[in-house]
Amino acid sequence: MASSNILSELLARNSKFSQTYQAPPGLLQMAKAIRSSGAGVIILSCADPRLNPYQIFGIDSTIKGVTMVRNAGGRVLDAIRTISILQTIGNPKTIVVLHHTDCGMSHFHDADVRKALIQNAPQEEETINATQYGEIVGSIEDSVQEDVALLKASPFVTSGTTVFGLKYDISTGVVTQVMEATTGETGGERL
Ligand SMILES: [Zn+2]
Repeated sequence: MASSNILSELLARNSKFSQTYQAPPGLLQMAKAIRSSGAGVIILSCADPRLNPYQIFGIDSTIKGVTMVRNAGGRVLDAIRTISILQTIGNPKTIVVLHHTDCGMSHFHDADVRKALIQNAPQEEETINATQYGEIVGSIEDSVQEDVALLKASPFVTSGTTVFGLKYDISTGVVTQVMEATTGETGGERL
């Protein structure tokens, strides 16, 4: 079966990886260092395999304290749990929201997801219809602005966190800034 071939491939690659692996510092030691430096950064981006935030921003072991959060669309609505935990552990005071052009969430909308889910789980129709799936119906700038505003309004995001909203053009590789805001302060600027 194809899936077992994939697993064999992944395990073979892991075997190679582990041969030169060097263990990082323990979680508590790392979290303490990030907390005391105040330099932690969360990058929230789409799970799209064409988008690699490590490559886009040239992130390697020389940049400390960058944590990746990825989901469909890079949407805030289902990232709050993870962001809450990351801010509890390492207290990162910068969040970067990165949405991208040609995103699946702009082609497949909540109605499409609901239709597919109801086919699989008709007994859950009520719950499915009441759930937001993070569709992007306007421009990418609009969705970035919406998510920066959601973070800014969330009582679960540490006050004084700087939030940058960025757009990634998947056809050129260029990132541009759309928004900037600080939680706990009024306003927020669309650039
Ligand atoms: Zn996407």
